[in-house]
Amino acid sequence: MVRSLAALLTAIALSVAGAVWLRAQVADGDPPPPGNLPGFWRSTLEHVDAEVGAVRVGTVETIATSPGGRPVYAVRYGERDELHSQANYNSAVAAQSPAWYARKDETTRPVALFLGPVHGQEVEGVVGLVNLIHVTETGTDHRGRAWPELKSRLDRFRVLIVPSGNPDGRARCPYDSFVGVPTRTMTKYGQGTRRDGSLYGWPGAKAVHPMKGDVGILGAYFNDAGVNPMHDDFFLPMADETRAILRLARDEAPDIAVSLHSHESAPVVLQASYVPVFMKKRIRDLSRRVKQRYEQKGLPYGSVVDPQVEDKTPGPSRYFNLTSALHHVSGAMAFTFECSHGSVGEEATAVTHDQILDVQLLLYDEMLRYALEERLYWRVPDSEG
Ligand SMILES: [Zn+2]
Repeated sequence: MVRSLAALLTAIALSVAGAVWLRAQVADGDPPPPGNLPGFWRSTLEHVDAEVGAVRVGTVETIATSPGGRPVYAVRYGERDELHSQANYNSAVAAQSPAWYARKDETTRPVALFLGPVHGQEVEGVVGLVNLIHVTETGTDHRGRAWPELKSRLDRFRVLIVPSGNPDGRARCPYDSFVGVPTRTMTKYGQGTRRDGSLYGWPGAKAVHPMKGDVGILGAYFNDAGVNPMHDDFFLPMADETRAILRLARDEAPDIAVSLHSHESAPVVLQASYVPVFMKKRIRDLSRRVKQRYEQKGLPYGSVVDPQVEDKTPGPSRYFNLTSALHHVSGAMAFTFECSHGSVGEEATAVTHDQILDVQLLLYDEMLRYALEERLYWRVPDSEG
């Protein structure tokens, strides 16, 4: 069946006035995108543009342009301390001190990196980070709710916010929310379909990379060139988005970094593979804190997972992903966070739009609290200071 792909994909129309982005369309037979979304639910690229355009306290930089011609923004807050960097991270560790890469002590600001969704259908992270920018700028989220503790913590940090890590994927997703939408629909637009309309699903969506060839709907996992930044080639990145994200971490040496994702089940902190066990223990401790924080607010949480050691698993099953790469390029305490979509399915966790925003902002607050209370200092060895 030959379907009009143009109707399914976001197309670029050149008008007399300049480029106009057309919104992605839902295919016949799929549930309509939820209407009447709350005003604080700012999940589109237009919302990102508006928020970034209103930044006054921070600075905004376009760190990459996607294959579809869309900007990847980084918003920065707080002064950047001199890192006295004389080596890249892995060479510094080989010289027995990460301080040769970045000096961190009581006089330097901790750095936090919030990486927005690299999977375009995982819109909840965009909502969270647009609201985080608003809190950082004004003290309140887009509900008008004040976050005084979060704001005072933010003010002590150097904060790096990438509201959308894959704007091409986001533009191709016709759903601005999946609350009340079947998980299957989320999967269809997130991971994409073959030409015959069958869903790639998992693990099919990862078995072709870059995703090219037998493609009906190109999933929002991918940029317009078919690259899923979570599984790029990190030693030879295919996507400029990936390269820019890694460069940002390399240049800023974040103490803590999150890659924001979503799935149908309960929110949870996930470990990256192939990072040192001491770092995995820290991530487990953060996971416990986030779970506690959510329980106090009546929010769901998955399970706290103990650190795993990859070498003990038979055969290749664990993989080095973007989160692992963020650690190895910067030494950051890097982890993946999965939010709930609020979609409908057998394994799905029901959450409201309000709860999703709380899940996001409480996570950010716990990250900053943890990084302040449990900060790692990187000092040059005494004999060489
Ligand atoms: Zn994801």
